[in-house]
Amino acid sequence: MHKDLEILIKLQSVDSFIVERKRDQREIPERLDGLKRELEKAKKEFEKAKNTKKEIALQRRSKEKLLDELAEKIADRKARLFKVKTNEEYAALLREIESFKEEISNTEDEIIILLDKDEEMDKVIEEAEKRVKELEALLKQEEAKCRELTEKIDKELEEALKEKERLWESLDSRLKRLYEKLKATKGSAVARAANQTCHGCFTELPPQLFLEVKKGETITQCPFCGRILYYWEEKSSTDEG
Ligand SMILES: [Zn+2]
Repeated sequence: MHKDLEILIKLQSVDSFIVERKRDQREIPERLDGLKRELEKAKKEFEKAKNTKKEIALQRRSKEKLLDELAEKIADRKARLFKVKTNEEYAALLREIESFKEEISNTEDEIIILLDKDEEMDKVIEEAEKRVKELEALLKQEEAKCRELTEKIDKELEEALKEKERLWESLDSRLKRLYEKLKATKGSAVARAANQTCHGCFTELPPQLFLEVKKGETITQCPFCGRILYYWEEKSSTDEG
């Protein structure tokens, strides 16, 4: 194969490697975004659970206060029972006492429900806290991995850029210009030719030109897209026999 053609092929492959790795490098921080969002969500759930527990405790305290008030009211009505003068007044006080007792019983039931809820919230809080800690540890791990990957890519890019410079310097200025121009206008300067076709623009090549490319002794451009052609064809099973 023509020496320059070999260099051009390598140059293009180094170029696309550089583009790919630069893209990979840009994508690294995005890897952490999902995890960071998950952690924020877990933290919010943890806070929410703690607030619910506080709310339950407040409700319980107010119900306990109510129980005290009701007990005082009952004591008050019982004391009054000895002072009333009529049967009607006596009956009215007894009814009041009964209704306070009923309220006490209902309030006690409500307190039991709140105690159950409080116990449930302890479990929820425990789970939420565990989740936060797990995600924090995972994020730390992933951040370390990302740092490692960034360093690895930095090194690879440095080597690739050196290699590119070395290849570039070995080309003459005419080929340098051609390569730059094709890369700028077509996205790639070198294209594979196979099955009589340019794989840059997928147009069928004239037979004579294809033969020239196949020999690989000259720098040949596709007459349609201008890309520099090289021959490489996968051997099909029929060719092998
Ligand atoms: Zn072409």
